[in-house]
Amino acid sequence: MDIFIEPIGKLINQFTKLPGVGKKTAQRYAYKIIGMTDAEAKEFAESVLYCKQKVKYCKTCGNFTENEICDVCKNRSHSAICVVKEPKDVIAMEKLREFKGVYHVLHGVISPMDGIGPNDIRIKELLARIDGEVKEVIMATNPDVEGEATAMYIAKLLKPLGVNVTRLAHGIPIGGELEYTDEVTLSRALSERKSL
Ligand SMILES: [Zn+2]
Repeated sequence: MDIFIEPIGKLINQFTKLPGVGKKTAQRYAYKIIGMTDAEAKEFAESVLYCKQKVKYCKTCGNFTENEICDVCKNRSHSAICVVKEPKDVIAMEKLREFKGVYHVLHGVISPMDGIGPNDIRIKELLARIDGEVKEVIMATNPDVEGEATAMYIAKLLKPLGVNVTRLAHGIPIGGELEYTDEVTLSRALSERKSL
């Protein structure tokens, strides 16, 4: 017999689908929702659906947007493209307020162990963006094995296209992630980037 009545058990189950949420935390979240007014609970549930309906991927860079093309792609110079693994890495870079170029979100990195090859991430889309306007592509994938391998792979494809390919300088801990790198370190890694 389940210790939770069915509607509560169901809600707890949904919360355990979120990253970092175990049974106990899920239970606390469910109780919190039960304690809400009807209006509050409705607003909570509706914002889940609203977000899901509104958020799309930018046709150019692959980052989240409400429109076909995101504001960054629409308003900034495309002379430098910063290539990252995931949308959350764009947030990490944008927090620096230093990079004035545009982004390219790969939505993954090459990882043969996980069966992810070059065609499974947005590499073709990146190559298609290289035109006369693009002067530099900054490889800002994480400094772990997959991130390094992906950066090297893409650099090899880009160089014949006559574009300067750079890599964030070290200082980001090996095996670390952009998202968790402090801003001073990430800022230095950006300003001291090296040619690949
Ligand atoms: Zn975009």
